[in-house]
Amino acid sequence: MSTPSHAREQRRTARLDRTARAFTAVELNDACCERWWTSLGWDHEPGCGQRGRHTSAA
Ligand SMILES: [Zn+2]
Repeated sequence: MSTPSHAREQRRTARLDRTARAFTAVELNDACCERWWTSLGWDHEPGCGQRGRHTSAA
């Protein structure tokens, strides 16, 4: 179902995707929930396990 040109494009995309995924894996391993990222480390999602780790106040 794939033409030669499509396969070539797919291979190039796969390489870029692998690189991007490697970066994501490293960053996610070092970070927390998505909200933590979007808030630049200031806030956490309600169901995040890391929530309240720095502040004991409810
Ligand atoms: Zn979090």
